[in-house]
Amino acid sequence: MSTLFPKLSSSQQRFLRDLFPGSGALLAPEELVGFAGDASQKQALPGAVVRPVEEAQLRELLRWAHLERVPVYARARATNKVGQTVPVRGGVVVSFLRMNRVLDIDPQDFVAVVQPGVVTAQFQQELESRGLFYPPDPASVKISTLGGNVATCAGGMRALKYGVTRDHLLGLRAVLPGGEVLALGSRCHKDVSGLDLTRLLAGSAGTLALFSELTLKLLPRPETSASALVGFAGFPDALEAAAAVFHAGLLPAALEFMDSVTLEALAAEFGRHDDAEQYSWLREAGAALLFRLDGSRAAVDAEMQTLERAVSRGKPVFLESATGADEEPLWEVRRAISPSLFHLAPDKSGEDVAVPRGRVLEAVQGLHAIGRELGLRTACFGHLGDGNLHANILFDRARGQAEAARQAKSKLFGLVLSLGGTLTGEHGIGLSKKEWMADQIGPAEMDVMQRLKAVFDPHGIMNPGKEWA
Ligand SMILES: Cc1cc2nc3c(=O)[nH]c(=O)nc-3n(C[C@H](O)[C@H](O)[C@H](O)COP(=O)(O)OP(=O)(O)OC[C@H]3O[C@@H](n4cnc5c(N)ncnc54)[C@H](O)[C@@H]3O)c2cc1C
Repeated sequence: MSTLFPKLSSSQQRFLRDLFPGSGALLAPEELVGFAGDASQKQALPGAVVRPVEEAQLRELLRWAHLERVPVYARARATNKVGQTVPVRGGVVVSFLRMNRVLDIDPQDFVAVVQPGVVTAQFQQELESRGLFYPPDPASVKISTLGGNVATCAGGMRALKYGVTRDHLLGLRAVLPGGEVLALGSRCHKDVSGLDLTRLLAGSAGTLALFSELTLKLLPRPETSASALVGFAGFPDALEAAAAVFHAGLLPAALEFMDSVTLEALAAEFGRHDDAEQYSWLREAGAALLFRLDGSRAAVDAEMQTLERAVSRGKPVFLESATGADEEPLWEVRRAISPSLFHLAPDKSGEDVAVPRGRVLEAVQGLHAIGRELGLRTACFGHLGDGNLHANILFDRARGQAEAARQAKSKLFGLVLSLGGTLTGEHGIGLSKKEWMADQIGPAEMDVMQRLKAVFDPHGIMNPGKEWA
């Protein structure tokens, strides 16, 4: 674990203790260890952790850090997968978990105002009983926060129909280095006054400002939903079926795909279950699609009939559909993918690349060709409707395959960019993809990003060493 950076001086430590009394400031090394890493498995020890409860503390902290040139790392539930919260240059980690109140839910404006540390699924549950709906649904929805979701512009399965987190952010209060507060956006669902700084801050990954309050757009809760899990002989058949669904005029709330290697891993997993026979189709199919429709009961019933007719274009080998609570077993298959891949290899490198929707077949075939070339297995699944692929490179570190996996990752990024795609559709650049960033973002664009960063953060104290910062 890195400890290369100068420790905070005793007067700096005193300042933090005074500003964050009681258990609000952590300074002992044994207390800091738990704040060193995140879901990327990368780690570095901070000089201190502070746990604000109100915006005034953030203002004072950033006034001080700006003057003292102390690095500041925002941290919520640390579920990001690319090292975005890792304090690689020491300094102060700001944990937002004590700023976790829902301040207002307004069914007239269809707006909620929240502090950033609210766990997303808990917020969604609170809305449900009031007939309201906040669509962003990263797979980490039960363990990540609204602030973390905004800072990463998190996507999820419902992004196909409803968009990503940025599309549901109406405004926010952002504390800048120096202590100034920007109150951005409004409670209006439309607002084109000036440059859209709200959208700029969504996805800024702690590199520009700390968020103290978020204003979110709400929707009426759909009356019901229905899902269909459909198996096909091969991936081209699945793509033909997906295209037929769109051409029939349907926009599913979610459309997930699984390739043949993913199905093989799932077959190994479900083959061990008591009801294994129910999953025998996993061994026969070469690809699968999982759809979710939502809306009024009458619309969903009619759309499911249309969907079943449309997918017949791909000559399905398996089809099961269900409504409401009965949908869960179908989604259990999707949720089981990540752990199931370990049946095929003890290690995996999972990338969240995205390509234009029309290039998905080339991307999936290209990934498998890279795997064959390097003697590794590869598996692909993900959000077909967004072209956002979870491309997994499977390997065995103990058998010396780590370097081949790294080469495969680099080749995958080259392939994706050659198809007009992006290194990351969801997880961000962080530390993990920083070395490839210049392959996607040209010098002129990078220069504008760096100049923008300097406007917000002239001394480069906000999450330094990450993304483009
Ligand atoms: C099992 C699993 C599934 C996942 N599935 C998805 C998925 O489907 N879609 C997806 O997009 N991501 C997914 N992720 C990644 C991750 O969950 C998201 O990036 C999530 O938005 C991070 O939220 P968090 O609360 O954990 O934030 P953290 O990881 O703690 O922080 C993330 C970033 O936000 C910044 N930040 C946090 N709070 C603030 C604040 N108040 N002000 C300014 N900056 C702040 C941090 O500095 C950091 O850069 C998944 C991760 C896991 C482990």
